[in-house]
Amino acid sequence: MKIWVGMDDTDSKDGMCTTYLAVLAIDQLKRQGISVEGFPRLVRLNPTIPFKTRGNGALSFLVDGNIDEVMEVVSGTIEKYAMLDDEKTNPGAVFVNSENDRVMDVLSAFALKAVRGVVSIDEAFFIIGKYMIPHLRFKAGRGLIGALAAVGLDFYDYTIEVLAYRKPERFGTPREYDRNSFFEADRKTYPLTWDTVDWYNRVVVAVPSSPDPVLFGIRGDDIHAVREAFETVKTEDIDRHMTFVTNQGTDMHIIHESEVSELENYHSYRIRGSVVEEPFIIEGGHVFFMIKTRFGDVKCAAFEPTKQFRDVIRQLRQGDLVEVYGSMKKDTVNLEKINIIDLANYVEVNPSCPLCGKRMESAGKNKGFRCRKCKTTATERVKVKVKREIEKGFYEVPPCARRHLSKPLVRMNVPHKHVFR
Ligand code: ATP
Repeated sequence: MKIWVGMDDTDSKDGMCTTYLAVLAIDQLKRQGISVEGFPRLVRLNPTIPFKTRGNGALSFLVDGNIDEVMEVVSGTIEKYAMLDDEKTNPGAVFVNSENDRVMDVLSAFALKAVRGVVSIDEAFFIIGKYMIPHLRFKAGRGLIGALAAVGLDFYDYTIEVLAYRKPERFGTPREYDRNSFFEADRKTYPLTWDTVDWYNRVVVAVPSSPDPVLFGIRGDDIHAVREAFETVKTEDIDRHMTFVTNQGTDMHIIHESEVSELENYHSYRIRGSVVEEPFIIEGGHVFFMIKTRFGDVKCAAFEPTKQFRDVIRQLRQGDLVEVYGSMKKDTVNLEKINIIDLANYVEVNPSCPLCGKRMESAGKNKGFRCRKCKTTATERVKVKVKREIEKGFYEVPPCARRHLSKPLVRMNVPHKHVFR
């Protein structure tokens, strides 16, 4: 029987990674003669979920074999390697007959909700109960949400990532690698691979700093280019590696404003609006501005880690028409991308005094303007042309600040892209 295996929530901030556990389980299944078909799927779910350890990733893979044997291997792998002592680690695994279209349809809808919204554990238990889905639940079993979603998500767009894992004895130690070789890999294979390095900020994005088993990951659209980059980089010894098909870099988390009647925290949107006032900067280098939208005024932010993207945002002016892409948290859209649709080339200012040439001051609410010195008056503000430092089109955060799910501009078929590399 062909079975989709889904698993999630096996790691903690102190170590492990669900992709690694899946790879260990796959290796064990193969050793036992059970065939694993195609590449495993690394499915990124709602990036705003507070329960996540890091990137809210869940795993699934297709096997052809006896369900009891498969469950035993997966169960053994989780028991042996998952960070079960951590109270926030609540693993779950599911085993779904891949030919059961009714269940797969239900899981497809459930998965999209898990990518774009917030799902309760009871919804996962309801589906498991109603369709009698064989499963493994450890502790609270919150991972069952991710496990079901990883099986069900329909990849209407996908990318590739090859992940290399460290020798177990090196877990937790600083990663050794030749920085230049990652820049060389990018030079050879970009734009078929992307987010390997960040040239402007001089960061090797492919190598994480967390204490998990991942040594590095190469992302891209073309499997040959990803492999070429993989073979170009020089690092400490690799223990094993795996190619994943993933929804990373697809914007699957983004909800278009036309699909909703209100904006909610913990959801990610694409919203159009006009800039209400000039952006302002707060301590720490975070930049904020307001846009007027069909939902009312919406606060947007480009936080410090988005680096040079903030220089673009700081140049926005009242009246600019924009479309923002990002996640709503604390009633603020954290920007991942912006499309500047129209630039306000004129700004309204107080009129100048015809005698002394200085700007007039307000004469009071609805009383027009005056020059105190020359005693001249005027009724309305005037429009003056301004020189703009930014252009129309798309701008995005740099690779070092990219969210897993965010679609890099290099993958987008849109005119007027300003790519930070
Ligand atoms: P890693 O990516 O390193 O494996 P992680 O960041 O994926 O770790 P998990 O340990 O898997 O984090 O924790 C995320 C938890 O949130 C899982 O239990 C998952 O089932 C649950 N979850 C994922 N998406 C949603 C959602 N949309 N609504 C509610 N719970 C969710």
